[in-house]
Amino acid sequence: MEQNGKIIGKRERIEATFDRYSGEVSREAIIKDDILLHGLNFSERSLKGAYQEKAYYLFTFDSDRPEVVRERPAMIPQEICIQGGSYGLRRTIIQSRHSKDSPYSVDVLDGKRVLLLDGVPVADVSFVPRPAYYGQELRDGMRVEEVAPAIYWGETADVTAFRICEYWNRGKQCLFCDINENFRSWGHLRKGLGAIVPEDIVAESLEMASRDQGVKRYLITGGAILDSRREWEFYLRYIQRAEESLSRKLPSRLNTQALEPHALERFYETGVDYYHPNIEVWDRRLFSLICPGKEENIGRDEWIRRTAEAARLFGTGNVSPNFVAGIEMAYSQAFPHGFRNVEEAVRSTAEGIEILMQNEIVPKFDTWGLEPLSWFGRNGVSIPPLEYYPELYIRYKELKREYSMPWPAGLGEAGAGVSKVPASAFMDA
Ligand code: SF4
Repeated sequence: MEQNGKIIGKRERIEATFDRYSGEVSREAIIKDDILLHGLNFSERSLKGAYQEKAYYLFTFDSDRPEVVRERPAMIPQEICIQGGSYGLRRTIIQSRHSKDSPYSVDVLDGKRVLLLDGVPVADVSFVPRPAYYGQELRDGMRVEEVAPAIYWGETADVTAFRICEYWNRGKQCLFCDINENFRSWGHLRKGLGAIVPEDIVAESLEMASRDQGVKRYLITGGAILDSRREWEFYLRYIQRAEESLSRKLPSRLNTQALEPHALERFYETGVDYYHPNIEVWDRRLFSLICPGKEENIGRDEWIRRTAEAARLFGTGNVSPNFVAGIEMAYSQAFPHGFRNVEEAVRSTAEGIEILMQNEIVPKFDTWGLEPLSWFGRNGVSIPPLEYYPELYIRYKELKREYSMPWPAGLGEAGAGVSKVPASAFMDA
């Protein structure tokens, strides 16, 4: 990387980014997004001891191909926490994304895990502990964490009810997504389970997880089903069975496509608290190119209309569609469509944030991780520069203030040193 005619390394670059956004975006958010973008390497000795292993429940999120990650004798942790060190960081929770080539790595020095950037220690590291509810057996002999693993540092019990997506059968999958490849590569981690997880064992697992004081909510997610009625009836059965056994003890989050209002009413009445009809990318043309299945089956305008209807039903802050932050800058010879500069990319997504907020919808983000077996990964697209993320968060915070919007509900507390959102730094910013 060159700055003022001088070649600079990754450390100088991150420090220059800290300085550039000082007072506007926290250091914790900046380094977190850089780690999410580039992934993390782990030394063998750092993977000794007890911690919560990565579950590979929905997508891989890894920068490395599954066969590379599977060569490791131990699983990597689901999440890490970085703190202190030369940058004086507050506690920052980060989803683990495996990358042997990352400038970031975790190793052990003087008996303690540390984060290295270009080989230099920059922060202390801890791995997410195994949640207290892990290890318990379900009636059919499976362990509870095979069905409802924890994310958000143990706060969210996460169920992927449908472990593949029907858009893949038609070659209409979203271009950033590797759900079916994740199932093919990591499905063996849940031996007794096929693509569909039975509702009864989901309900049993969630009831078990709910007895853990650390678990604050549950999430039902999974791939898309082409037929809209089949889709909402499928996911509704999970909420119904879960709510029967939980008796509203835990708030619930639902990740599905944008559903029609009559279906959403059923979910609302049954007990869904927070709803995420993930739009992924705002720009009209990019939406149709990046999410061809969603475009063909529902359409962008209808997606937005249904999301606005949902906000009227669930209330302000309770509907938070996700953007895969950064995919609007995806660019390669095979995909010459993404924005070429940060300003245009942020302007486009900020237009979406503003329209959504005008409709009482508070979008959320996942920082894009380029997965090698997604279409984008197979077609050599470039990832966005780090600056995209602080620029996006500055606009997000301005719009959030302007429209007096809360943080998205169901994600826990916001703030540097406080947020437990693992896959984006927007609530650490
Ligand atoms: S709808 Fe798109 S992002 Fe969601 S599982 Fe299917 S292909 Fe992946």
